[in-house]
Order: sequence, then C-alpha cells, then structure tokens
Amino acid sequence: MKLMKHFPLSQTIAKHKQSLLALPLLAALTLTGGCKDDSASATLPVNAANLTAASAEPVSFWVATDTHYLDNGLQDGGAAFEAYVSGGDGKMLPYSDELMEALVHDAEQKKPAFLILSGDLTNNGETSSHKKLVQKLVRIEQAGTSVYVIPGNHDLNNPWARSFEGDKQIVASHISAEDFDKLYADFGYNEAISRDKESLSYLVQAAPRLWLLMLDSVQYAKNEEYGFPQTDGRILPSTLAWIDKCAKLAAGSQASVITVMHHNLLNHTSMHVSGFRLNNSQEVLKQLRKDGLNLALSGHIHMQDIRRDPGAAAADAAAPVYDIATGAFAVNPHQYGAMSFDPVTRRVTYATTAVDVEGWAAASGSTDPNLLGFKAYAEDTFAASSYNKALQRLEESTFSAAERASMAEAMAKLNVYYFAGTASEHLSEIKAMPGFKLWEQTEGGFMSGYIRSMAEEQGGSNVSFEMVLGAAKP
Ligand code: FE
Ligand code: MN
Repeated sequence: MKLMKHFPLSQTIAKHKQSLLALPLLAALTLTGGCKDDSASATLPVNAANLTAASAEPVSFWVATDTHYLDNGLQDGGAAFEAYVSGGDGKMLPYSDELMEALVHDAEQKKPAFLILSGDLTNNGETSSHKKLVQKLVRIEQAGTSVYVIPGNHDLNNPWARSFEGDKQIVASHISAEDFDKLYADFGYNEAISRDKESLSYLVQAAPRLWLLMLDSVQYAKNEEYGFPQTDGRILPSTLAWIDKCAKLAAGSQASVITVMHHNLLNHTSMHVSGFRLNNSQEVLKQLRKDGLNLALSGHIHMQDIRRDPGAAAADAAAPVYDIATGAFAVNPHQYGAMSFDPVTRRVTYATTAVDVEGWAAASGSTDPNLLGFKAYAEDTFAASSYNKALQRLEESTFSAAERASMAEAMAKLNVYYFAGTASEHLSEIKAMPGFKLWEQTEGGFMSGYIRSMAEEQGGSNVSFEMVLGAAKP
C-alpha cells in the first residue's frame, strides 16, 4: 500500500512515542475529545480495521506562518534598519534569527511529526534570507520533523528585497518561483504525490489518513512590472480542477485533507480591508465543500483568528468549513498552532503556543536580557509600537494631550490582545478603559473601524479549537 511506503512502521512508532511524551496534555485532550462527541463519531465512515496499532495513534504537528525571516547579514542595526523596523507593522526583525533558532529548538525538544509553514517565509523574498532559512529547516528535518512549505506574497519576485547598511537601504537580490521550487524541494515538492502544473501547489501524505493540500494562492507574475509585491491572492481555475482530482485521490485512500494556503479563505475582520481574503473565496469554498474538505489553515492577516463559514448556516449547516488564521510568527506573541489528528475519529485539535525564546536563550548561554526575558520584552516592544502609531494618527485631532495618551494606551492594549487572538476574552477590560471610550467618539477612519470590529468580537475561542475533519469525497 502506498501509505505504508511513506510511513515505515518503526519510524511511525518512534515519532509518536516522542510526541506523546513531549505533549501529554495534548494527547490526553485528543483522547477524551474522541469519546466526548458521540454524534460526530457515529456518523463517520471510520474504517480502523486496516490501520495498524501504530498508525492508528494520534499524530501531533504544528503550523506557523508569516515567519518573515530576515538574514542577519542583511542588516547592521544602523539608522536605516531602525527606521525600517519602527515604521513597519510590528515584526520583530532585529531578533529574526533568534526567533527561528527558538523554533528549531522547540521542534527538537517536542518533535512534532511535521511542521507546516504557510507562506511569507521571508521578510521580502531576499535570496539570502531564503537560503539561511532553508538551512534551519534542514536541521528541523534532521531532528525528525518533516517540513512542508508554500509561498506567501512576500516570497517571490519581490522588488522590495533590501539590505540595510548604515543610513542606507540597498536593493538585495530576490528569488523567482523556479528558485523557490528548487530551494524548497525537500520541504514538500519532492514528497508530493501530485503537483499542480500552473502553480506551486502540491498534495502530500503527511501522516496516516492525513493529507495536506498545499495551495499556492500568490500572484507574483507582475511584481517586477508593478514595482511592489501584489498583496491579494486567488486560486486559479485550473488549480480548482486539480483540487477535485486530489480529493478523489485522498478519498480512495480513506484520507482526510487539511487545506493550507497563505491568503484567508474567510473574512477574519469586519473591517473593509481588501487583499486578505482570496479574491475568489466563494468559488474556492464551493469546491472545498463539494470535495468534503472542511478545514483551511491560513495566515497573511498577521492576527490570530478562527472563523466558521457564515454561509454554512443556511446551505451546509451540517458541514461548515473553518479557516484558522494563525497569527504571524514574526509578530508578538510569536506563536504557532500546535495541532493533533486522530486517524480513527478524524478529530483535529488546535492550540496556540508561544515559541519558547527564553528557554532557547538560556539553553544556548545567551546573556542578552531581551532574549532571556523575551515574553515581556516582545510584548512591551509591540505595545510601544502600537502606542506610537496611535499617537501619530491622533496628531491632528482636537483631543488634549492627556486624552491622546489615554487613547494610545487603550489602542496598545487592544492590539496586544487582538493579535494574540484573545480580544474576546478581554472585551470588558478594554471597554472599561477611558481611552477606549474616547475612541468610540471618533467617526470614520481606520481606527474607529478597527475599534468597532474588535467590539464585534463574539464568543468562541480564537486560540483553541476542536473539530472532526471531513472524509475527502470521491
Ligand atoms: Fe505576512
Ligand atoms: Mn502575506
């Protein structure tokens, strides 16, 4: 059988033993979860008979996104770099290398079966960032964790690739789609059981009964002509047809499929911001529903958010599709999704986990106080950057200096929770802040929309989640 070829028994046992030891909580959660929801498991066409004892065990895996890795060699910490970082969107670029090292360390310690990276692997597609990142991914695989990647809108043909020297930004070389294919051959493309002819999409058997449909949603062909990386994404019509074939293939092997893409399948904010959700999301949703694929993992929006297809209430209430947008790894609180899959019940769990920079720093003998106390440092840095941006936006307002400071303080706090995916749990705390009430008095503009979208946050956790994966339909 094909599956056995990809999962030699000894290897499967070893991997699972390690992951169960390292993640007793997650494993226990999966086990109790599997028994809890009788209605769901009763309707499953589960055929555990031809699963071996080892391959019937739950598998643990991680998803991280928007790592936006920047090669240390491309910046000297000078004025140009500092200005670039403080003018940016909150990415922890000065410690980009340390963050990735901490992720490698986490993987070496906890040994998930595989790690998914769903695009925006690099800051702006710099050749040397890609090459250095590949070296780290090699080490993750050497420790026993398979890595599967897809590109994001910043990774290919990016005219924004830069190095930073003193007070100057210097154009750096960037990679093409062909380069990506070669560079990341060992991180999905070589293992693919099927590849899309017209994109960097592929299908891979990641674990017994669990396949990954890795979709390339990026439009990079005109970046050089535009002079910037195109932000919005879509799935090509020919790729949709290929997805249908993939689902049939998976169905033949009784596999469930998780769909992975950089752009969001669903809206993750009520704000009218374009470029986050796929341009043809309705079409893609229709295809996924038809094929029995009910979970997508995405990134791109940089904040943590879990959504259920709102249209599902009417047409497909019995089989809603979910999109988990994992927060950017490069942005506070620097988290990834720790997941599990039970091949017998098809149950999937997800829980955000902050990368353990402090543990890695201590283990590697670092003396940098920012790294040794990274959790507080990263949150303070992110909050300060939100605070300063809010103050800038209020410069021409009629609010007093004290009022502006109070508003900026509320915005900083809100942003910390919002990006972590915990705003809904802190709504009453935020709404009680004097600065929040002042924001509510403002009309129009980005900030009032932002505040409103946050206030619309409703119940349902954005940081932990459980569901039953559909079986791919023939
Ligand atoms: Fe990004
Ligand atoms: Mn992106």
